[in-house]
Amino acid sequence: MALSQNDILRALELVKLPASGQSLAASGRVGDILIDGGKVIFAIAIDATEAGAMEPVRKAAESAVGGIPGVTQVLVGLTGERAPSRAAAPSPAMQARQQAHGPGGAVPKPAGIPGVKQIIAVASGKGGVGKSTTTANLAVGLATLGLKVGVLDADIYGPSVPKIFGVTGKPRLVSGRTLAPMEAYGLKIMSIGFLIDEETPMIWRGPMVISAITQMLREVAWGELDVLVVDMPPGTGDAQLTMAQQTPLAGAVIVSTPQDLALLDARRGVAMFRRVEVPILGIVENMSYFVCPACGHRSDIFAHGGARHEAERLGVPFLGEIPLAMPIRETSDGGRPIVASDPDSAHAKAYVALARQVKAGLSGPARAAPRIVIE
Ligand code: ADP
Repeated sequence: MALSQNDILRALELVKLPASGQSLAASGRVGDILIDGGKVIFAIAIDATEAGAMEPVRKAAESAVGGIPGVTQVLVGLTGERAPSRAAAPSPAMQARQQAHGPGGAVPKPAGIPGVKQIIAVASGKGGVGKSTTTANLAVGLATLGLKVGVLDADIYGPSVPKIFGVTGKPRLVSGRTLAPMEAYGLKIMSIGFLIDEETPMIWRGPMVISAITQMLREVAWGELDVLVVDMPPGTGDAQLTMAQQTPLAGAVIVSTPQDLALLDARRGVAMFRRVEVPILGIVENMSYFVCPACGHRSDIFAHGGARHEAERLGVPFLGEIPLAMPIRETSDGGRPIVASDPDSAHAKAYVALARQVKAGLSGPARAAPRIVIE
C-alpha cells in the first residue's frame, strides 16, 4: 500500500523534542513531506543556534520513519529557513548578525574535527566563476607543499568535485554511519554528490544543508589531515551562512572573476564570513586574463585587476590571478586538475603560488599585515 503523510506523522509522534518533550509531529516544525515510492524526504525547521541540539532529533526522525514498512530511504534535513508563517522569528542571517555584533554575544564556534588540523572554505558570491576548479587545484597545490589534504565538496547545488578529480563510485561504509573518503591524487575526497542522487529536487537540497555538512564533516573517516578544503555552495544566502557558521573554519578564500558584478558578489561573500567571524584568507581573481595559445598575445577580456582593487578596498589579502586558459578548463573538466597533470606548466605554478599564500595565511596572525617591499 502506498505511504501517506499520516503514516510519517504517526511515526514522528514518537520522536520527542529535547527541551519541551513535545512530539515532533505536534511541534509544527515538520515541513512538507515528499513521498516518492519508498523514498521519504522532509525538513525540520530550527533556529540556527539549535543545530547541535536538534541533530539527535533529526537522527531519531530518520530512524523512526526508516522503520515504517515500505520505506526504503529517508532523508531528513534541518533547515534554518523557517516557513513564512513564522516570519516573526529572526532568520539565521539576522541571528548570526545579532550574535556577532549584539551586546555581549559572541558566535558560538562549532567543535573541531578530530585529526583535522585546519578547515578552509573556498567560496564565491555566485556560480560559474571557477570556484570548484580553484578548490581542486589549490588542494593539489597544498599537497605539493607537503601537506596532508582533504577536499569536501559541500556544493549542494552543483557538486562537481567528483568530476574534476575523475572519481566515481560510492564511498564505503566503515562502521555505523561512518564513510571512508574516496581518494585521488593523494587527496581524501568526499562530495555531497556521492550522498544525494542527482534527481533530488533543488528545493529539497537547501534544507539538507546542515545535516549534509554535519554528516560529511563528522561521519567521514578523514584520518590525519593538515588541511581540509571545503568547496562551498555559491552565493551568500541563508543556506551558505548557516554552513559557514556550522563549520569550524580557520579561514575563507573568495574566488571572483574581474567583472564588476562578480566583484559585488565577492564583496557580499567577504561580508558573510566577517559576520560569522571567519578570517578572510584573501580573494583570488580567476579568469583574470586570456593568453592566446596560438600567438601568446595576452588580452584582458574582463578588464583584469578588479579583484586586486576590491581586496585592497576591503582590507583583505589579494591572493593572485589565474588566467582564463584552455588547458585549465580541459584538465578540470577531464578529471585531471592541472596542478597534478601538468605540474611544470605556468598555470600549475600559478595555483601552487596561490597554495603557498594560503598556507602562509593559515600559519600566522601576520595574515592581514601589509607587505613592504624594499628594492
Ligand atoms: P564554479 O565552481 O564556480 O561553478 P567551475 O570550477 O565548475 O565553477 O568552473 C566553471 C567552468 O569554467 C568549468 O568548465 C571550468 O573548467 C571552467 N574554468 C574554471 N576556471 C577556469 C580558468 N581559469 N580557465 C578556463 N576555464 C576555467
